[in-house]
Amino acid sequence: MIIVLKTGAREADIAAVEAKVTELGYQPHTIRGEVRTVVAAVGDESTHSSLEPLTHLPMVDRVLPIQKKYKLISRETHPEPAVVKVGDLTVGNGQFHVIAGPCSVETEEQTLATARAVRRAGATMLRGGAFKPRTSPYSFQGLGEKGLEILAMAKAETGLPIVTEVVREADLELMCRTVDVLQIGARNALNYCLLEAVADTGKPILLKRGPAATVQEWLLAAEYIVKRGNRNVMLCERGIRTFETATRNTLDLSAVAVAKLECRLPVIVDPSHGAGRWDLIIPLSKAAVAVGADGLVVEVHPQPEMALSDGDQQLEPELFARLMEEIGPFVQAAGRTLAAPPPAPAAV
Ligand code: PEP
Ligand code: MN
Repeated sequence: MIIVLKTGAREADIAAVEAKVTELGYQPHTIRGEVRTVVAAVGDESTHSSLEPLTHLPMVDRVLPIQKKYKLISRETHPEPAVVKVGDLTVGNGQFHVIAGPCSVETEEQTLATARAVRRAGATMLRGGAFKPRTSPYSFQGLGEKGLEILAMAKAETGLPIVTEVVREADLELMCRTVDVLQIGARNALNYCLLEAVADTGKPILLKRGPAATVQEWLLAAEYIVKRGNRNVMLCERGIRTFETATRNTLDLSAVAVAKLECRLPVIVDPSHGAGRWDLIIPLSKAAVAVGADGLVVEVHPQPEMALSDGDQQLEPELFARLMEEIGPFVQAAGRTLAAPPPAPAAV
């Protein structure tokens, strides 16, 4: 922390600040400038008291943190990028992953048809919501346990690991029997009790950014999970709420670039919720690759016009196959390799 004193601070003021800094467990290093004096407080902010309340001292102008608040996921303390394991797949080591599937699991037929199609096109994981956090209580709320059973069938047939959203802690035990990656949705992105509960399962986590969360809040949410001992966290940018109405949300690709610079965790981009429009998914996916993302999560439905949720942003399987073809050169130009799906289980 740096404590900036007001102009005209006297020696007695400086000594008082130094004494307070020492009392709080830091070593003061005072730099006397021509106009201003600053006191650098050396010590680990994660184990010592915060110095921010020193702004109450009459001679203190500002207190500025210099360490990042997120210690475990920061590149400042651990420069090498983290790798997340999902079964035999690795995310974040130059391998580019595309997670695809319906917004909601609706029927066995719909989910299996989607799983087959996305696998054929090159997706490495299957997404699909069984428990849906819907804005309206009158909208389709997901099939719940039945949805998990359908996802398990899709995995048994295709071998694709399952990514699905958890909305409450009480479902975790049941979900962990089937699910490979637990998704924390935008609406629960700052629900710290749920973050700790998912961390304790030890499962890999896909952590969406809250629609009104700053990058710092998003990264600190990830820090909650990693601090609990679960390092398998993938960040997911899915758009934030802005004044713009042309898209459902504003896909914040600059946040992806910031997260890649600041943080060691893989970053996945969700252009489906980011744009809310199927016709923007391919261009936004290319942009996500270019900005340094480690993967995409894309909604796909065999008949988007019949979908029970998010029909306007889901791709038909043919378009998804086109997306996979068109991002290839971008992935290569970004120095990444399109990851291969896990081997399909032997037919019985
Ligand atoms: C979803 O992935 O279907 C979903 C509900 O996303 P988000 O939490 O980003 O709105
Ligand atoms: Mn959706």
